[in-house]
Amino acid sequence: MRDQGEHIGLATVYRHLQALASAGSADTIRGPQGEMLYRSCSPAIHHHHLRCSVCGRVIEVEAPQVEEWVAEIAAKNSFTLTSHTVDIEGICNLCREKTDAS
Ligand SMILES: [Zn+2]
Ligand SMILES: [Zn+2]
Repeated sequence: MRDQGEHIGLATVYRHLQALASAGSADTIRGPQGEMLYRSCSPAIHHHHLRCSVCGRVIEVEAPQVEEWVAEIAAKNSFTLTSHTVDIEGICNLCREKTDAS
């Protein structure tokens, strides 16, 4: 049995976030339980996210190597680049200390 209610709910939330993202006022990330969240980012400065999977803390990072790689892959396949998303997940130093202490 599929939970139709949850499926529809997520789709609606996702559409809402997409509208925000395309308006250039927000982008989307996933919360600690896998739920979609959005946060305000500066659309003028392209960046990627490094996210702690324990506390949800997000650090914005620039990744020139990733930009180069994305452009190369697009060119190789004759694609015109429109967007890409590269988010890194890990455990931040604060959460790691907590884990080590217990
Ligand atoms: Zn953390
Ligand atoms: Zn990028």
